[in-house]
Amino acid sequence: MSTTDRLTGADIVKRLGVKPVINAGGPNTKHSGSKPRQEAMDAMQAMSEVFVNIDELLIAAGEEIASIVGAEAATVTSGASGGLVVQAAAALTKGDPDLIERLPDTAGIPNELVIQKRHRFIYDHLYLAPGARFVEAGDESGCTPDQLADAIGPNIAGVIHLESPFKNRDIVPLPQAAEIAHAHGLPLLADGASMLPPREHLRKFTSEGADLVSFSGGKAVRGPQSTGFLIGDPEWIEFARLVNAPNATIARAQKVSKEEIAGLIAALRVFVDEDEDAETVRYRRDMQLVMDRIAEIPGLDVSVEHNYDHYIPHCVVRLTDSWRGPDTDEIARQLMLGSERVYVLHGYIGSREMWIDPLNIQPGELETVARRLHEELLRAASE
Ligand SMILES: *Cc1c(COP(=O)(O)O)cnc(C)c1O
Repeated sequence: MSTTDRLTGADIVKRLGVKPVINAGGPNTKHSGSKPRQEAMDAMQAMSEVFVNIDELLIAAGEEIASIVGAEAATVTSGASGGLVVQAAAALTKGDPDLIERLPDTAGIPNELVIQKRHRFIYDHLYLAPGARFVEAGDESGCTPDQLADAIGPNIAGVIHLESPFKNRDIVPLPQAAEIAHAHGLPLLADGASMLPPREHLRKFTSEGADLVSFSGGKAVRGPQSTGFLIGDPEWIEFARLVNAPNATIARAQKVSKEEIAGLIAALRVFVDEDEDAETVRYRRDMQLVMDRIAEIPGLDVSVEHNYDHYIPHCVVRLTDSWRGPDTDEIARQLMLGSERVYVLHGYIGSREMWIDPLNIQPGELETVARRLHEELLRAASE
């Protein structure tokens, strides 16, 4: 880099000896989330110029976010995961300053959260961080409304609900779960982290009865990667804000800087105004192009899918019974080798499936993704 040139991301990683990745696997934190919008980056830069009282900023930012997304109330969190910790802490303390100070010591107060067995997921221990414990309802095969209601005893502080593409079958759906929670005077705490788009979800889960819904700011919203936000009932949002950073609470380590707060607001403004139909057409066309390049490879079942199972159109590659090559973990590993490393979603969707997600594929990279997939899959097919 010469002194007159702008420092680039490529320069930074090169200096560190870290090899960049083409992200065709979606907004996964371990692969950098998503690309923050220019509007978010500009707002972050600008926000660095002023000092404010962070409590005042958080209250105002919450009001602004609520108005942007059409919610009653909102507050900023450190990712949707930070929102889960805060949800649980809010349910345990309900604004009581002595209890807030005591967490994670929950001696003598209701400290159990009901979770449907099928809603157990990789991040669910975040709900336990403030000192909560789980009571599971139902089993691996599902949960009925009666089983959910029966799990609610005197020590329960809230009911958890996961809105996720992988966990939405044979469970008590959100409206019914909320009804059961409310009948017992309990909050319904929803995780909707990856459920945007469709943008209508910004209203759906609360209108179905969730008291707090946690969303990611660093996935398709494309705000700062470390941000998230809770929306919901004003009283519960206030309980959440009180247990969250910058206060000296269990969530103090979950701070979000004023720059990140400004970046999230800027990103959300753009996100809600985007033309979802046009965006969907574009993603579908891109995924169709990838599909066409690999569909003829023997042993594969390739399709472009977009339903309530995933937030945007994606290309699904399934290994059929006639596939003779290695499993998708190995194929994904090969795709990450060499000078053009391509990350695709694999692993927890099963060893016979991988997903190409268009969200993070940058202009000019689609052809590389299609070519690398074709190369590696063809090679794997002939092994
Ligand atoms: C991504 C995700 C999270 C974590 O969100 P972050 O914003 O990365 O903290 C939590 N829950 C679910 C279901 C998710 O998909």
